[in-house]
Amino acid sequence: MANLLLVEDDPAIRSALIRSLRELGHAVNAVDGGMAALAGAVEQKPDVVVLDLGLPDVDGADVLSMLRAVSEIPVIIATARDDESEIVRLLDLGADDYLIKPFTAAQLNARIKAVLRRSGPGAEDPLLVIGGLSIDTRSRQVTIDGRDVELARKEYDLLLTLARRPGEVVTKRDLLAEVWQLAWGGSDRTVDVHLSWLRRKLGESAAEPRYVQSVRGVGVRLTAPAADAGPAAPAADADPAAPNSKLAPNSVQ
Ligand code: CA
Repeated sequence: MANLLLVEDDPAIRSALIRSLRELGHAVNAVDGGMAALAGAVEQKPDVVVLDLGLPDVDGADVLSMLRAVSEIPVIIATARDDESEIVRLLDLGADDYLIKPFTAAQLNARIKAVLRRSGPGAEDPLLVIGGLSIDTRSRQVTIDGRDVELARKEYDLLLTLARRPGEVVTKRDLLAEVWQLAWGGSDRTVDVHLSWLRRKLGESAAEPRYVQSVRGVGVRLTAPAADAGPAAPAADADPAAPNSKLAPNSVQ
């Protein structure tokens, strides 16, 4: 079903997971250290990496950072450390999901399927366009009024989550669940901080929002700004055939 790279140094856990995951129909390649994991991820190009944090040669968090420098392969962290701030840090580093040990192969399989659903080729149009904002989900490239916007991974995920539901108010709780995979726990502050970074890169602020609109006490929504709300850049939704786009009637609410 999926081509998995399992990184686990405990031989008992490793062989039990290999057997169970193969029974579930996955192709499993297993390694017992961080360096072997990096080599395997590059050579094997797995669909998903299942990464133990406590490894004998390189810490799993460092493996994750190094892997993220070269690859967007989905990574599920397997950790014995039930520490929320550590987990948030790993998700910020680019982990796609996590499991706290001990876990069953069925739990891991559910996470693998969820990660593949999120990262795999879906039915969605790969190009999302909202006003002057466009998001190419294949290349993870974002432009605003034709200008490239460089986003960090979580900023991109946040923008994409909002862009998939344009005009809809999304709660911070939902954003923590969908962007940070925190079904419970986590802090609104995490969302607020990333929203403020995202806004800055989009050339706006909470005080002068354009695309990212906060709805007090409810959440946040992404909408195309009114034609006259933006900075000097021409409104992308103005009719290009109009002789003077400033006079286009689309500034009327
Ligand atoms: Ca270990």
